[in-house]
Parts: sequence; structure tokens; C-alpha cells
Amino acid sequence: MNAPVQTAPAFRSAARLAAIEVSEILQITFEASARKRAGRPVIVLGAGEPDFDTPEPVKEAAARAMREGRTKYTVLDGSPELKAAVREKFRRDNGLDYTLDEITCGSGAKQVLSNAFMATLDPGDEVVIPAPFWTSYADIVSICGGVPVVVPCLEADGFRLTPAALDRAITPRTRWLLLNSPSNPTGSAYAAEDLAALADVLDRHPQVWLMSDDIYEHILYDGRRFATPAAVAPRLKARTLTVNGVSKAYAMTGWRIGYGGGPRALIKAMAVVQSQSTSCPSAISQAAAVEALTGDQRVVAERCRAFQDRRDLVVGALNAMPGVSCRNPEGAFYTFARCAGLLGRTAPGGATIADDRALCRYLLDSVDVAVVPGSCFGLPGYVRISYATSEAELREACGRIAAACAVLS
Ligand code: PMP
Repeated sequence: MNAPVQTAPAFRSAARLAAIEVSEILQITFEASARKRAGRPVIVLGAGEPDFDTPEPVKEAAARAMREGRTKYTVLDGSPELKAAVREKFRRDNGLDYTLDEITCGSGAKQVLSNAFMATLDPGDEVVIPAPFWTSYADIVSICGGVPVVVPCLEADGFRLTPAALDRAITPRTRWLLLNSPSNPTGSAYAAEDLAALADVLDRHPQVWLMSDDIYEHILYDGRRFATPAAVAPRLKARTLTVNGVSKAYAMTGWRIGYGGGPRALIKAMAVVQSQSTSCPSAISQAAAVEALTGDQRVVAERCRAFQDRRDLVVGALNAMPGVSCRNPEGAFYTFARCAGLLGRTAPGGATIADDRALCRYLLDSVDVAVVPGSCFGLPGYVRISYATSEAELREACGRIAAACAVLS
């Protein structure tokens, strides 16, 4: 008798994953990197990652932790040393006073955000997300069973959420407002007055909590002062989670340490979530993060100045290209360029540049420059350009983009 033919069982993902894919930003970055490895002269302006190296004293702190055998599980939402360092950071940089049990540490700011949503969202609960927004926000909310309520923000308003738009977006089901300043993808930042005006709206909606993603805090230009909602409106602190991390400020994306400060009950609920996922962040990375947060901070300001020079270079070059325009970002290391003037045109091979995705594909195929379509961030007709790379590469990339745009008819 023949053995029965074995067929692979059909795979079925959970319904909550149905509309979610690997982040398009990562897909573009992976594709560009693969082409680079295959020998193409690709310049990747897609990733949200500083090109600088992790500071030497931070690496040394990690090596020391390994040598001293500090390589075991830590307290699940952060070692006492890291929590103390975070507490000091919040005091020093933000004037925020959190007790140790109001602080949580996770494997990246992304895990901290995700823990908070997992701990608080019931099916159908709404999260107000101003657009353009970092794609992961909406996907994390959806995975956690919530409903992202995307509120478009205008370039004329500096891509900032206005109090009137916030008021209109809030319903009885709203659990959170999620703010990100300086912003990925636009580089826009909220001044203290902007946050105060939004806080006035939240006063009328006591059921709404505020999540402030401050990950780009230290990359802020032209002498601006960073503002965070719990400090601007202390009355909101009892319903605010202030999220931050070491990835961007200290070029530590691969170390995976993020942290948050918020009300004790929320922090406790987030610890329950984390206890059943990663148990604790990497002990070695935690030791490194202690050094990053408490060591010499001069490197942070030096790198911010370098980013500002790069911003000037890229924004100047883009605004000189016919059909392209972009506002001068206040922070982060992205510029969000309007490219509506290029759409509908024809590439030399005869293909139509129908939309921002087609434009990004054209730039990658024709001049080996990888940028991300605005559609990924909830606003078509734009492209996001990350300028976290050397000035020489940025100059070359801008030259290539200009040449590619100039031959569109
Ligand atoms: N928030 C925003 C707005 C980001 O751009 C990123 C990284 N791309 C994160 C959070 C996540 O940072 P982390 O590496 O700490 O998880």
C-alpha cells in the first residue's frame, strides 16, 4: 500500500493580523540593503537609524557587565540601576519627578508603547493618532484589539494636531491620544504652547489618557527647547505615559532599551504584559543604557549639531528641485517632502509616476536611492527622507534625485 501523500497543512494567521504586514519601511530598507550587497551603489535614506557609532564608554559599560557576570535575568521591567538612571534623566532633562515604581524599562520604546496598549485596550477602544504618523503606531493598536483613529494634520499647521481637530476626534470610546514630538516622519515639534492648548482640550475629556513618544527629544534644532506634556501640564501627569529610549539619542538602536514614566497602576499593568513576553530587557544592554543616561552627555549635543547641518543641506537641495518642496523640520532626522508636482509625469522608459510609491520605486530603480513613500505614514503625495547619514552621501543622493526628477516629462 502506498503511504498517504503528505500535504503541508494550510496556515491560518489570527484575525488580528489580517491587515498587518511587516513594516513597509523595513521592507524598503531590506530591499535596498540586499541590492547594495549585490554590488549596486545604493544610498539608503530609508531607515530611522543614526549612522553614528554607540559611544565608546557605553560599549565599555556593557563589556564590564559581561566580565562581572551581570548577565542574568533582571527585575522584569528594569534593573534598580537602570530605573534610578531613568529617574534621574527625567528629573534632569524634563523636570519630571517619577518614583521608581512609576518607571518601566523594555526592549525598545516600541515594546514600551506596545505594553501600554496591550495593558489598556479592550476591543473597540480608540486611540487618536495624528497623521502623518510612524506606521507602527496604528499596527500596534490594531494588534492589541484597539481602533486607530487617524486624524490628518495639514502641512500649513506644521503637521501638528490642532486643538479643534483633537476635540472632533474624541469619542466616548477614546482611551488614548498619542503624540510624537519631534515627529517621525515630518520632523515637526510641538512647542510648550501647542501642548498647553491640547491639554486644555483633554481637560474636557477626562477618560482620555496621553501617550507622549519623546524618542527624538535630543534631536531638536535652532536652539528650541524640548517640551513634554506631563511637564507642560502637570495636571495631566496622572494620565500620561512619557515614553523615551536610548536608540536615537545615543545611536543604540540595536541594544533595544526603551523606558517610560507614568502612573503606578499603569506601570504595574505593563509589567504584567512584559512578564509574559520578554521577561526583562537584555541585562547587558541595561548596563549600557545606565552609562548612556548618566555618563557625559556632550556627545548628544554634538551629534544634534551634525544632524542640523545635514538637515540644512538636504532641505536646501530638495527645495531647489522643481516639483518638490519641503518645510524646514524642527527636529528628528527626517524631512517630509511634498512631491505632488512630480506625480503624473513620465519616466524615460515610458512608465507613469502615478503616486508616491511609484516615485520611490523609480528613484530606487533608476538612481539607486531608497526613500520611503508618504503613504506609509498616512499621507500620500510625499516622500520621507532620512538624513541620518554622512554629508558626502547626502550630497550624492540629492544630486541623483535631482537628476532623476529632471528627466521626467
Ligand atoms: N517611536 C518612533 C517615533 C520611532 O521612530 C521609533 C523608531 N523608528 C521608535 C519609537 C522605536 O524606538 P526603539 O528603537 O526604542 O524601539
